[in-house]
Amino acid sequence: MAHAQVAEKPVPTTDFSLLIDGESVTAGTHLDVTNPATGAVFAQCPAAGRAELDRAVAAARRAFPAWSALSFDDRTATIKRMADVIKANVDSLAELLTREQGKPLQQSKDEIGRASSLTEGMLKIRFETETIVDDAEKRIELRYVPLGVAGIITPWNAPVNLAIGPLVSALYTGNTVVLKPSPYTPLSTLKIGELIRDVFPRGVVNFIAGGDQLGQWMTEHPQIDKISFTGSVATGKKVMASAAGTLKRVTLELGGNDAAIVLDDVDPKVVAPKLFFAGFVNSGQVCMAIKRIYAHEKIYDALCEALAEEARKWKVGDGLDPATKLGPIQNRMQYDKVVEVIEDTKKAGGKFLAGAEQPKGNGYFVNPAIVTGLDETSRLVREEQFGPIVPVLKFTDVEDALRRANDTRYGLSGSVWSRDPERAAAIAAKLEVGTAWVNQHRATAANVPFGGAKESGIGRTYSDLGLKAYMEPRVVSILKTLG
Ligand code: NAD
Repeated sequence: MAHAQVAEKPVPTTDFSLLIDGESVTAGTHLDVTNPATGAVFAQCPAAGRAELDRAVAAARRAFPAWSALSFDDRTATIKRMADVIKANVDSLAELLTREQGKPLQQSKDEIGRASSLTEGMLKIRFETETIVDDAEKRIELRYVPLGVAGIITPWNAPVNLAIGPLVSALYTGNTVVLKPSPYTPLSTLKIGELIRDVFPRGVVNFIAGGDQLGQWMTEHPQIDKISFTGSVATGKKVMASAAGTLKRVTLELGGNDAAIVLDDVDPKVVAPKLFFAGFVNSGQVCMAIKRIYAHEKIYDALCEALAEEARKWKVGDGLDPATKLGPIQNRMQYDKVVEVIEDTKKAGGKFLAGAEQPKGNGYFVNPAIVTGLDETSRLVREEQFGPIVPVLKFTDVEDALRRANDTRYGLSGSVWSRDPERAAAIAAKLEVGTAWVNQHRATAANVPFGGAKESGIGRTYSDLGLKAYMEPRVVSILKTLG
């Protein structure tokens, strides 16, 4: 739950509402929402309980037959109207997103813009009935039908993008939706709910904010058919266990501990800014951020120095300040965790080439840190730090680098960097991940499946593979004569 802090002119609760059955509604309780740049509560929004959840699910069920009966073209037209409404309100939404999440304003705009472009991309994917056999005797067809009501549960690091991706996937494939944002960042999602209220038929889209328990109730709910969950591995395991009670379909997009392997032939000055961006944007609070760098001994020292130079350039501050390149950590709990990892790294003998000292004040700010001198057993290397601190580890033999990169229960993504893309691709293909990039990191697209291997998730988002996870395959097998 969001932490209550010293109140700083809270915005009246009535500024935000839940979206249930086509109506903007309030609730008996509320969430306090903290601005991580100040550490103070700046807004409150309604918090749904069981009654609101049941109403939202019932509305989604009522809306399902008509929505699922529409053609892909008809649903596309409505979803495009939603994307247009979001685009038209990007400035106000981005400011709200920065206030609740912390990221620099331009990055909030980028996040909302990206949600729109991914939407457009997904709406181009078409599903036709597949014919498996068609001969004189029989025809066997494979159709895809919507599942019913999809429950979508989202995290706090990219609340708009990670809501719109599953939302569009579910709606486009004919499902109706009950969506719950993180209690730390409910506002931009609820505001979108208000803006799109009249775009959809009643009950097709329901947005309910609430605490962790609301998420658990969703995973148990007998009238929800599918859960799309984006969040931590630990919660993902609880979601899967809980969804087993009703055998809900699940898509789990979980955490990562991505490795970047940098080969001996690169120019450190050229790759350092790219690696730094992929590791530190959104202050490292990205599932697919680079979280470990393995650098060949030949370029190791020069690369470490070039990364430290980048770290010194990136200004940390309030996301509303145009000079800011790195905002605060999003919430107090995560901030305390990152500070703990920094202390632990110092005790483990890590050498800080940048970011050893932390800013003072009430905001949850952390300076970007580049660390050397650690081995594979340290917490910073083994865990998902989800903050602006990245270890650089040395290797001599590329097979050894691969073994160390793969020695983890995470398997979201990874990358290999070289002037020779084919050499790098052969190595990248051996990474035990859902996505292995060459000379890039964090590159996703609407027509490319994204998701985790191992404990980084189950299933994929985007692409026909991701969208099919919101549908049930149905075989229709026809014998052409009765005999
Ligand atoms: P979290 O797991 O703490 O919470 C995510 C959501 O789950 C929140 O809405 C929360 O209220 C809800 N929740 C909490 N307990 C629940 C329960 N028992 N049942 C159902 N729902 C519950 O994650 P977070 O801290 O908000 O997000 C950060 C994590 O998300 C990181 O590990 C990050 O790597 C991961 N993430 C993954 C992806 C991806 O695409 N793979 C994308 C973004 C973030």
